[in-house]
Amino acid sequence: MKLSKLASEIVESPTLALNEEARLLRERGEAVINLGIGEPKNKTPIHAILSSAAKLTSGDVKYVPIDGTPSLKKAVIHYTEENYDKLVAPENVIITNGAKQSLFNVIYSILNPQDEVIILAPYWVSYPEIVRMCLGKPVIVTPEDGTFTPRFEDIEKSVTSFTRAIIVNSPNNPSGVIYPAELIGKLVELCERKGIFLICDDIYHKLTFDGNVAVPAYHFSKKDIEDSHVIVVNGVAKLYGMTGFRVGWVVAPRQLVRIMANVTAQTTSGVSPVSQAAAEGALTGLQSVVEALRLQIQNNRDVLLQEFKSFVGARLIEPMGTFYALPDLRAFNSNSVEVSHFLLKKAMVVTVPGKDFGMEGHIRLSFSGTVKDVTDGIARIKWALDPASPNEIYIGDRKLIRDWM
Ligand code: PMP
Repeated sequence: MKLSKLASEIVESPTLALNEEARLLRERGEAVINLGIGEPKNKTPIHAILSSAAKLTSGDVKYVPIDGTPSLKKAVIHYTEENYDKLVAPENVIITNGAKQSLFNVIYSILNPQDEVIILAPYWVSYPEIVRMCLGKPVIVTPEDGTFTPRFEDIEKSVTSFTRAIIVNSPNNPSGVIYPAELIGKLVELCERKGIFLICDDIYHKLTFDGNVAVPAYHFSKKDIEDSHVIVVNGVAKLYGMTGFRVGWVVAPRQLVRIMANVTAQTTSGVSPVSQAAAEGALTGLQSVVEALRLQIQNNRDVLLQEFKSFVGARLIEPMGTFYALPDLRAFNSNSVEVSHFLLKKAMVVTVPGKDFGMEGHIRLSFSGTVKDVTDGIARIKWALDPASPNEIYIGDRKLIRDWM
């Protein structure tokens, strides 16, 4: 069968692949704990349910404007003013099928073949793949060993005449770090000086702990939105735990939004009005749901930190936001793919190899589930890897004895 070389080279999403493996194990009755997927366990906020249900029961579910329903755009404009102190027009906003499509449309709309996009490691797995799908070249900048924040000098050195954008994701998936405001300020200045875009994937921007804040890039720009080099991507998936509704958005200069609207018109024709109504309900409804979710996730993070105290050999940089931690397990095995497979096979815990995030020797743990998932999951990981931990454990109702050390 002759198939596209470009499409065939796209790698499978490692998180989705591991989830599938975990699902099959669960079907066989195994007591699998999923620390792989980043998905809060909360129910959909009531205002989102009511708003989407009202749309559905109206029976009027038809094509809607390609770039989003006017009322959801209005809610996004309000959100941008409140959280970014930035006043934008409806022409600066486009609604997409999740933040993932936002990123795809932005990158597709700004790249010419062979153009480069700078990606900061550790990075979300989809960035390099999306850049490659758009015929561009991902350029990875990796921090000094032992940190998760690349140095500004190294980023600046990577800029060439082909660079079109830098992607920043802070709070960061997979490390949980928040980049210092000073770094964001320098990146805005660099992008404005060089005429390149700063794509801010802000999907976790409210999920921060201990009073830490991710200062928005807009704060460092004096430019008007139409001349702005800052592009903001956001969505309802993580903020409200509404992963299944598939609603994200982009705030950008109107010239870029117009092109993205054409791309959308020729691909998806926009987002289902039922989902858009749900997103609107979430954005305009009671915002205490976001704080409740943040507190629950912060508590999970605290539990994770406590459990790691007795994990001899593992090095952990404390997550300041998101629901991910990226421990360094090189003391046990520097091959993260081997570690993840070992943990699934022996301890029935799903994790994601750091290699997929450009951080070999580490594994990503999601603490978006229950406290029990976090405590039991880490106990199992310690049991599987750490000779100092007790060599017996209960997994489901089976007592297992470690016999590989
Ligand atoms: N960006 C980052 C950093 C993410 O972690 C995710 C989801 N895992 C997305 C974007 C995509 O979000 P959505 O579900 O809205 O497409």
